[in-house]
Parts: sequence; C-alpha cells; structure tokens
Amino acid sequence: MNNSTTRDELVIGTSAGTSKNWNWHPDIPIKYSPLFEPKPKLLEVVRWFGQAWLPLTELTCYLLIAIVVWNWVQPPLSETTEFTFDWIGAVWARNLGMMILLTTFLHLWLHRWQKQDKAFRYLHKSPTEKHPKFLGGHQVRDNIFWTLASGVTLWTAYECFLWYSYANGHAPLVMFAENPIWFVLWFPVIGIWFSFHFYWVHRFLHWKPMYRHFHSVHHRNITTGPWSGFSMHPVEHVLYLSSILIHLVVPSHPIHMLFHAYFLTLGTSTSHSGYQALLIGNSSKFVISSFFHQLHHRYFNCNFGNTELPMDRWFGSFNDGTTAATRKLLKERG
Ligand SMILES: [Zn+2]
Ligand SMILES: [Zn+2]
Repeated sequence: MNNSTTRDELVIGTSAGTSKNWNWHPDIPIKYSPLFEPKPKLLEVVRWFGQAWLPLTELTCYLLIAIVVWNWVQPPLSETTEFTFDWIGAVWARNLGMMILLTTFLHLWLHRWQKQDKAFRYLHKSPTEKHPKFLGGHQVRDNIFWTLASGVTLWTAYECFLWYSYANGHAPLVMFAENPIWFVLWFPVIGIWFSFHFYWVHRFLHWKPMYRHFHSVHHRNITTGPWSGFSMHPVEHVLYLSSILIHLVVPSHPIHMLFHAYFLTLGTSTSHSGYQALLIGNSSKFVISSFFHQLHHRYFNCNFGNTELPMDRWFGSFNDGTTAATRKLLKERG
C-alpha cells in the first residue's frame, strides 16, 4: 500500500469526511466540553480531558516547554526584580525564536512542501494569497510582520511584567508541594478561563468600530495559515493577551504563566494552520487545530470562544458545523 492510498483512506475512512464546502471536516455537529452539559457524565468528562492532555498532545507540549524554560532557561526571579535590557532581551529573543521555529515549520511542512497533501486540510484552497488588502500585497509577508513586530513584542511585554511581578511579590505564588491538587487542576482551568476571556474580548472586537479599525487585520485571513493566527493589530494583541493577567490574582507558579503564554501565542499558529492534524507516518495523527475557529473565519458571526466553555451556545452564536446552524446564523446576519 503506498502513502497516498493510506492518506485517502484516513480522510474518507473516518466518520468525518469531505463535502462541497470542506476538503475535510471532523465529526459534525461539533461538540462542547461535556463538563458544562446540564448533567455532566463523569466518563465523558474524563475522556474529554484525557484526550486533550494524554499521552502527548499539543497542550502537553506547551507544558513541557514551560517546564524546560522555567528550570533551565529563564534567569532566576532574583534577577528580574528590575526591568533591565539583558533579561528582557533574552525573553524577547527566546519568544521570537520559538514563534519563528514553530510557525515556519508548520508553514513549510503543510503549505509550501505539502508534505501530507490534502489529508486533514479543511479548505480546498491553500493560503498563498496575493491581494492588495495585505501589507506588501502578500498574505504570508503581511502575517509575519504583524506576528513578529507586534505580537511577539507585546507577548514579551506581558511576560516580562509577570516575571517582574513574581520577583517583587506582586503576583501570588503557589508551589507544587504546598497545594498539589490546585497546582495540577489549574492547567485545565486555564483553558476554561481562556475560553471565557477570549469570548468577551472577541465579541468586543466584532463591535463595528473595533472591527473596522483593529480586528479586520486578523480577518483579512479568510483562508488561514500558520502565520495568520497571531497576525493581529497591536490593540487586539493587547486585549487578547490580557488573559494572562489572571496570574496577578490567582495563585500560580511561573510554569502556569508560561504554559498560558504559549497556549495564547504558539497555539494560534496551530489553531490557524488550516489542518486538523499532522500526519505522523502513514497512520498516526497529532491533533493541532480546531474546526470551531475555522468556522468563525469563514462565517464571522459565530463561534467567538472555543469548545472548552459553551459561551457561544449560551449566547446564541454557536455554529456546530451543520447546514441548519450555518443557514440560521447567516440569516441573522442578513
Ligand atoms: Zn482567528
Ligand atoms: Zn473574529
């Protein structure tokens, strides 16, 4: 059996599949976390969080990077009591390096070199758009500019502010030995907090003046690619990244803060990659993306949050991917 046959089988052989609108889509209707169902079932909740975290998932990778950075890369808190160029420059260079490495890899692997053909790709079309709406008339160059010049700079500013706050006792610290249950639980709860924060910030950004001046920079990307995710106007970066300020209030370890930062930043490269999963070998996959947000980029007035917390269902903007839901929301938009 050759590679392309196996890949085709992977696309067609799942209960997900192809359609006129999508080259590939996951099971429809898409589902929310069972934790917030009216009567949550323990087994389903365990399965949901198990799949999100075990054995090695995108979230686990961010956690591992956070552990490595805290233990072996980041200068000790005694050196971050004041804002000085040496440690801030090091944080900036590290963040820049991680963003460039991950996003360049995804861009080259999935889009330029097309290493897995169309397997798990949502759209029929690849994001190689040349259009005057983009800076320099080129989508990828435009996206790289906003991501690195604005995105990584503001991410570094927030992160350094938190390093400074930890060092000066302005952010409450928690250690594993003090409260191991909270220490572990806080990681999945960060995902739920993110969902809540992102929903409100995102709805605000769709308010007409905010959309016109700021959020439209991100939405130029209808056909998204890895560089599109963090391609935002600086005002959107400031609002979006403010999710991380929760660590000024909720007792956290710097590993929580770093995990949160990587989820907010590196996570945009995967979530906008345009692919549901990376194909590993011929039969394994590594899930990297979310169809939920892909629907937002296509239809605009739906799915402002994510699947960890059913904000969109509670506030009437949930598109579960079915034709009926799409028609209803399009009709509301007029
Ligand atoms: Zn987006
Ligand atoms: Zn939007």
